Amino acid sequence: MARLPQTIHPPEKARTGKHACPTPVPGRRIGIHTSIAGAISRAPERAHQLACNTFQIFSTSPRQWKASQVSAAEARLFRQAREKHGLRPLVIHDNYLINLASPNAEIRRKSIESFRAELERAVLLGAEYLVMHPGSALNGDRTQAIARFVSGVESAARGLRLGPLTVLVENTAGGGGALGSEFEELRAFVQLTERVPLACCIDTAHLYQSGWNVSTEKGLAATLARLDAAVGLDNIPVIHTNDSRTALGSRADRHEHIGKGGIGLAGFRRILNHPRLRHKAFILETPIDKKGDDLRNLDVARSLVQGTRRAPRNPRTPSND
Ligand SMILES: [Zn+2]
Ligand SMILES: [Zn+2]
Repeated sequence: MARLPQTIHPPEKARTGKHACPTPVPGRRIGIHTSIAGAISRAPERAHQLACNTFQIFSTSPRQWKASQVSAAEARLFRQAREKHGLRPLVIHDNYLINLASPNAEIRRKSIESFRAELERAVLLGAEYLVMHPGSALNGDRTQAIARFVSGVESAARGLRLGPLTVLVENTAGGGGALGSEFEELRAFVQLTERVPLACCIDTAHLYQSGWNVSTEKGLAATLARLDAAVGLDNIPVIHTNDSRTALGSRADRHEHIGKGGIGLAGFRRILNHPRLRHKAFILETPIDKKGDDLRNLDVARSLVQGTRRAPRNPRTPSND
């Protein structure tokens, strides 16, 4: 009888070899922005393969106005796959072109229309959170821009049943007139938006780029105290967990691999294990410079989480960087 080729059992090899299959950390929610290439219903399986128990997706191409539709059948497959793999919460990130705060009437009209479609797809897919960038005032008045954002969110949602969906407005690095790098602006969004459930998503790289030094113990404590006073840490269910490729206060939004940027491994160990943060969903939006970077970054984040029996792995043993 012919022997089966050995190569047909790579999962077995993965289990018995020195690289153990990655597993989620019990009691913690760690995930990554996951590709929807091919079909949106493939994303949950991809996230599961990376041992995520939460994930983020775009529900359409993030850089064009014309959105792709999600059919009811596709949404059903997506929901089933997500349920099967216990991925919770589901976070959707909105299209980058949307600027509800824009002083340009045409851009704002398209933004409202686009954001309404984002809300509809998020409801169809059963998302808990829809993360959005607050947009830019360009060179105009910021108070008026905040008012345009608030009325834009409310017009987009008019008449929709959002169910369990909460909109999360994300803090920004602050470049190019972007709203949302100031915590007081985040507070204004949350307080002024009445007809749509709205809370915040905080991005660690954007904190650092907007001048909050979360790489140090003191800096993290000061940042969280100010955030708590401005919006309340309970109003921040999702943390975008990214290191920064640019300098403290640079206002330039470039993400870096966990531990390889300005925030560093010690910074992320404190962030991931902070008693006020540990129950949040941590979503990585780290770069993929070479194949496997997604899993490597997730493994770094998981290895930094205390209270587990995982042996800390050196994530980049073969690399010379
Ligand atoms: Zn982010
Ligand atoms: Zn960013």
